[in-house]
Amino acid sequence: MKTLKIAIQKSGRLNEKSVDILSKCGLSFENYKSSLISPVQNFPLEILFLRDDDIPEYVQDGIADLGIVGENVIEETGADVTYLHRLGFGKCTLKIAVPNHSEINSLNDLEGKSIATSYPNILKKFLNKNQVQADVRVISGSVEISTNLGLSDAICDIVSTGGTLKSNGLKPFADVLSSEAILIAKNGIADENEQVQELLLRLRSVLRAKENKYVVMNTERSNIEAISNLLSGIKSPTIVPLAEEGWCAVHTVISEKDFWEKISKLRKAGAQGIVVLPVEKIIF
Ligand code: ATP
Ligand code: MG
Repeated sequence: MKTLKIAIQKSGRLNEKSVDILSKCGLSFENYKSSLISPVQNFPLEILFLRDDDIPEYVQDGIADLGIVGENVIEETGADVTYLHRLGFGKCTLKIAVPNHSEINSLNDLEGKSIATSYPNILKKFLNKNQVQADVRVISGSVEISTNLGLSDAICDIVSTGGTLKSNGLKPFADVLSSEAILIAKNGIADENEQVQELLLRLRSVLRAKENKYVVMNTERSNIEAISNLLSGIKSPTIVPLAEEGWCAVHTVISEKDFWEKISKLRKAGAQGIVVLPVEKIIF
């Protein structure tokens, strides 16, 4: 069986979570800081540690079969790769921002203005789509200070909480791209490849588990129907009798999305002593 290669970020915002998700898929390897390649001990896979900018093209060219990288980087490089799965971390948005007191308040106001960015390709595409002609100035870092330095009228940069913009006296007004970490593959390798399919199965079970909580609650038997109606677990809930006559424990899985709303309804329907546990994996 051919040993596959997966490229992940060597150090930076995506490194730890990439390592974490692969570990949760049962892969055992060292998160080397000093070496480029780390073999996985219990799966025919090698981990390549790279700068994130290089990952899309390495995967496109088949130097790595798979990769984990931000969508912003994939889009900016324009690499032709297959998106296998969104990973739910590294979430951020590429936004256009201007100084708080700027007269630029809409996309049309950008006409003829200068915008500093490290994402010229994505930005130019966006401006074209919106039929705005602006001067795109490429800078490789610290984009957020370029308006203060008089280098540009606006910036286009990655924002996650907005704290950096605020502390530089900037306000965002247009979203250019929403991004998160993505598992990518070289075109054409995923469908027929057993190892890739096995990895995807494991990954889906890990991601599904992250979105759910295991919940155990006590209630009087007479409330079971009302409580069951509120639950849409994997199948119907498990009901276990308690030592105390007329009482039982209800076991179920609740999605993280509407968790608090559900819990509040369950309490109103007579659930008490609610215990919530993390789920490690859900395999269908
Ligand atoms: P490298 O040394 O690998 O080139 P980098 O400095 O280019 O790293 P990082 O700052 O580590 O990149 O960010 C990696 C990715 O994390 C980004 O491309 C983006 O997808 C994501 N990300 C999430 N939140 C943020 C944020 N607040 N700022 C920048 N990137 C973020
Ligand atoms: Mg980079």
